[in-house]
Amino acid sequence: MAASRTLGTFRLPPLPTIREIIKLFRLRAVKQLSQNFLLDLRLTDKIVRKAGNLTNAYVYEVGPGPGGITRSILNAGVAELLVVEKDSRFIPGLQMLSDAAPGKLRIVHGDVLTFKIERAFPESLKRQWEDDPPNVHIIGNLPFSVSTPLIIKWLENVSHRNGPFAYGRTQMTLTFQKEVAERLTASTGSKQRSRLSIMAQYLCDVQHIFTIPGQAFIPKPEVDSGVVHFTPLTRPRIEQPFRLVEKVAQNAFQFRRKYCHRGLGMLFPEAWRLESTGKLLELADVDPTLRPTQLSVSHFKSLCDVYRKMCDEDPHLFAYNFREELKQKSEKRG
Ligand code: SAM
Repeated sequence: MAASRTLGTFRLPPLPTIREIIKLFRLRAVKQLSQNFLLDLRLTDKIVRKAGNLTNAYVYEVGPGPGGITRSILNAGVAELLVVEKDSRFIPGLQMLSDAAPGKLRIVHGDVLTFKIERAFPESLKRQWEDDPPNVHIIGNLPFSVSTPLIIKWLENVSHRNGPFAYGRTQMTLTFQKEVAERLTASTGSKQRSRLSIMAQYLCDVQHIFTIPGQAFIPKPEVDSGVVHFTPLTRPRIEQPFRLVEKVAQNAFQFRRKYCHRGLGMLFPEAWRLESTGKLLELADVDPTLRPTQLSVSHFKSLCDVYRKMCDEDPHLFAYNFREELKQKSEKRG
């Protein structure tokens, strides 16, 4: 008990400000790497508060940079913080933080796209999927070019219960370009509804927590950011393989402004497109004249279940790609 009280009350000693760290180590943001830093510790504290209670938690921070969010996480009384940073210029500044928080901060110079977090924390943290989430959290403010492919990868990990989700229903608090944050959390019928909304919402409870105005970052990016919190669901809303759900969602949103049967039709070879699309929509009980943005997750569940049956009946169907068919046709014509 005494140990956990000590962990819970940890505060970093006085340190140079993030602005001073940036000056001291000459950490000019590299535009090509889309580096934008958060210097306001009240803002980084707010992001970390929204991640939930981090007392004695094991936290994985992606892209710590000069360490603003890193400080707020350490001040939240975590048991251990593991940071993965690609740009070696940030390592000495992070090392200074590590010295100020002995035994709490582990620094990895590496790439979050390949780092294996599933072996980094103690086995004892693992929880059954149906249990409450483990005391493991992911927090990060990554460049937009990395955060979107990474969330797709992590959603696939949620569906397989591996990667960061080998510990159980690990929660994530991540920043995205505001438009992406809106897409991730868009409800049925909203203008921002997209493939990303379906992929995130069939697997997780997703909340757009707050918006960070562009001027809060140094240098100021062209767009605002949105902080999004994800908690994996105990039971996915669609119980089909990730790749199958992705294919159905991707095709459905192919022609955003048209009726949904147009995009969904692209799941089938041209020769029997009309007939198969009709069958899919009828068996799934989905109105063909709904727009893709009007389809709910439960519509997608029915569509995926029926499409799965059709794939089981025709082993070539899942591999079918309408772009390939178009390409072959134009090659023949050429
Ligand atoms: N978290 C810091 C903040 O909020 O001030 C820095 C944010 S900056 C937008 C993104 C950080 O992620 C940079 O430090 C960058 O070097 C790092 N980064 C970019 N791609 C990365 C990758 N693939 N793996 C690890 N770190 C990466």
